[in-house]
Amino acid sequence: MNIKAIAELIIGAIVLTGCGGAANSAAQETSAPKAAETAAQTTASQTVSEEAAPKERDIDPTKPVIALTFDDGPNTKVTPRVLDTLEKYDAVGTFFLIGNNINDESAEQARRAYEMGCEIGSHSLTHSYMDKMTAEEIEAEITETNKRIKDAVGVEPVFFRPPYIAVSPTMYQTIDMPFICGFGCNDWVATTTKEERIDGVLNSAQDGAIILLHDFDSNYPTAFALDTIIPELQDQGYQLVTVSELFEAKGKDPHSAAYKNQVISLVK
Ligand SMILES: [Zn+2]
Repeated sequence: MNIKAIAELIIGAIVLTGCGGAANSAAQETSAPKAAETAAQTTASQTVSEEAAPKERDIDPTKPVIALTFDDGPNTKVTPRVLDTLEKYDAVGTFFLIGNNINDESAEQARRAYEMGCEIGSHSLTHSYMDKMTAEEIEAEITETNKRIKDAVGVEPVFFRPPYIAVSPTMYQTIDMPFICGFGCNDWVATTTKEERIDGVLNSAQDGAIILLHDFDSNYPTAFALDTIIPELQDQGYQLVTVSELFEAKGKDPHSAAYKNQVISLVK
């Protein structure tokens, strides 16, 4: 960790010396004091323990961000394992809940996620092909799911993930939430191995990406894969954030015209 921090400082110094131009100078101004700050913190914590350094939830918009997202919960089997792993690495994710999966026991998992700083989104009430539904049917799915999520965690969802990523003009007209998709790794297929899930996520990792995973109640391989995925992404310099934080970090408004009538997988 110390060697890595020092190496980063050296690399940072080379980059700062090596680049020029007006666009780069703004980045230099923000990154230089940050580097000095990191160096000071490293020195101070060396005598105690590196692990004791306070972990910050502050997001640095100059550094890359990724939003891990989980569909089809909540439940009392895989959801708590995913939360344990997020907690272990001081990371957060966004959970797109199926309204019908919320019961007294599973609601506790949703609450725990929310209290950890995770975000709760809507994944419909019945997980049906909503592109075949009328506006009234769509409205009923959304209203009831919003209510159940509010009952469980205290706030209504602000993002929607369409089941099967099946969308229609009627859905876009009826649902007043941005439609979130993401980069998947076939983790809803039981035969996809843990290693394939790890490789799938790491291969699609990029700044501003939304990663689409599942925490349905038999999907243990994804929960286990996270124990490799999360530290690896963090080692690569990614900050793991919620979908709301991803838009915030990029200075983008998810309700703006740029994101209307489409599913969003990448925020640049
Ligand atoms: Zn789903």
